[in-house]
Amino acid sequence: MNERSNSNSLKLFEQAQELIPGGVNSPVRAFKAVGGNPVFMKSAKGAFLYDEDGNDYLDLINSWGPMIMGHACEMVQDAVKEVLPHSFSYGAPTRREVEMAELIISMVPSIEKVRMVNSGTEATMSAIRVARGFTGRDKIIKFEGCYHGHGDSFLISAGSGAITLGVPDSPGVTKGVAQDTITVPYNNLEAVKQAVEAAPGQIAAIIIEPVVGNMGLVAPVRGFLEGLREICTRENIVLIFDEVMTGFRLAKGGAQERFGVMPDMTTLGKIIGGGFPVGAYGGRKDIMDAVAPAGPVYQAGTLSGNPVAMAAGLAMLRYLNEHDEVYNYLENISDKLVTGMRENMDKLGLNYTINRVGSMFSIFFTRQPVTDFESAKKSDLKLFGQYFNNMLNRGIYLAPSQFETLFISTAITDELADKYLKANFESLQELK
Ligand code: PLP
Repeated sequence: MNERSNSNSLKLFEQAQELIPGGVNSPVRAFKAVGGNPVFMKSAKGAFLYDEDGNDYLDLINSWGPMIMGHACEMVQDAVKEVLPHSFSYGAPTRREVEMAELIISMVPSIEKVRMVNSGTEATMSAIRVARGFTGRDKIIKFEGCYHGHGDSFLISAGSGAITLGVPDSPGVTKGVAQDTITVPYNNLEAVKQAVEAAPGQIAAIIIEPVVGNMGLVAPVRGFLEGLREICTRENIVLIFDEVMTGFRLAKGGAQERFGVMPDMTTLGKIIGGGFPVGAYGGRKDIMDAVAPAGPVYQAGTLSGNPVAMAAGLAMLRYLNEHDEVYNYLENISDKLVTGMRENMDKLGLNYTINRVGSMFSIFFTRQPVTDFESAKKSDLKLFGQYFNNMLNRGIYLAPSQFETLFISTAITDELADKYLKANFESLQELK
């Protein structure tokens, strides 16, 4: 293994820390959870990232999900180029927004109407406002370890016990907001039932990552999503699937298609913009018609439906819609990666759990099954940090936190999977 130079990244990081809080525009990028310094990227193509020091990295994060076809793919470039000579923003409705809405509705089974926004955070914040406006109720239930962006209502930790009234997870989130978020453990239907019974007629929405990417990858246990559906239907609670990560990734129609459970509302982000800032929320017609100007719930955006972002997203979604083989490919290549990793771990006699759903997976350094945030936290974080840095030194770019999932792109060929597995074996072997 060659020593990689990182002097340009280091210099930029030093400068950035003087100018930008923590030197980054989103906290996880600072590599705090794994030690070391962040790598500053200069360009990317296909499966590879290239940094400011001339190093390359095989990318298994893909910008946290959006680059499902790999970096700088030609079809998205072409779509964007076509738009650029006209306008970058009209602030008025355009044909592409209608086409985008039509395409989303045709791909995501439960969406009957949809509104475009600029990020996943905007999508989830808006969705719970609509659910509250529609039901006339204030409280929401979320799950411990799920992340729904940085809206106040979601930055809430669980206290002790199975069902907890929320406590603010960040300074700046008021107690008033926190008391309307109830946090329960993931995969625990009994806790959900108790939370609903404890606040009769007060729950507007249950919001969930149907497959969690934000505590590492955690899958729903059999019957969990179905159970939530039943409770929500019985209690007139709006069931929101946050498919910002899973949408267009776990299947054309996201986790809801893959698991056959339909929410009332869905939030989308990441892949929907083809790498540009796009989010969306949609759902049942009667609920979405509560949104202004059709209804009284206010939500707006200067750049919502931006023509450049719409063109990029449309190109991406159209391609996925017309190419089922993408999902077969991702399934097979991800299976190869995970099978190889299991073999490596077994050979070395290491304690591990690997969770995978489709092209999202995570390795945990614990033998215990990981089904919720408590069990995810049993992973040996020190080992994870070492493993991450060992992989980085071998030119493999992983998520710089245990509590994140990897996202595989179609640019990972069989040969690159072998390269990854070799680096994986060596990195594991080197763990102390
Ligand atoms: N919801 C989920 C499930 C996410 O994973 C994220 C971000 O990773 C968000 C919402 C927030 O999306 P954004 O970062 O685009 O605001």
